[in-house]
Amino acid sequence: MLLCTLLTFALCADPNVAGAVTVGDLTVPIVWKRVRLRSCLDVGGGSTTDGSGFTRLETGWSSQEAPETSTGYAGRVTVRINDARIEMSAFSWDHMTAADVEGLRHLYRAALWHELGHVRTAIGSVAEANVHGAFTAPTATEYSETAVAIGNAALARFGAAQVEYDRVAEHGLRQDTLPPPLGGANTTITCTNQR
Ligand SMILES: [Zn+2]
Repeated sequence: MLLCTLLTFALCADPNVAGAVTVGDLTVPIVWKRVRLRSCLDVGGGSTTDGSGFTRLETGWSSQEAPETSTGYAGRVTVRINDARIEMSAFSWDHMTAADVEGLRHLYRAALWHELGHVRTAIGSVAEANVHGAFTAPTATEYSETAVAIGNAALARFGAAQVEYDRVAEHGLRQDTLPPPLGGANTTITCTNQR
């Protein structure tokens, strides 16, 4: 499996390459599926969903209790990404032209960059949650209740950040409006020679 860096990023946007992106200590495999279309016009994509990519993120949280003190219970909630993978569609249709192939090459790069943004956003959410994970509680029951509340709130913020990223990037269609490092090419394709 090819580990994609910024230098090899374009290689990983090739459906024939088995690659993975690494962000921090998280390695995210890129999985391609072949999608047969009637024509370039069916590439469509994504005012409500990402057009040619999808990032699957499985998250969870756990709490670690510190030794009991005279004032009660202290602990920390840690949020983590249990599993992540980027699912990409490799499109094809009859009578593809060289321009179609080139258009798809650009689309895949832009789409993979958009999905990488989901991973970056996710890692940012986890880091933010784990800065604020410490808490105390006077009783064991309240300790458990507080841990659940903090963990669930962190996962809700995690989900909201993903939705917000798609809102501002318009699922990649307006990726160029975002600041670095998220900003990039838009996930659009110009179809030529339509029959
Ligand atoms: Zn998206």
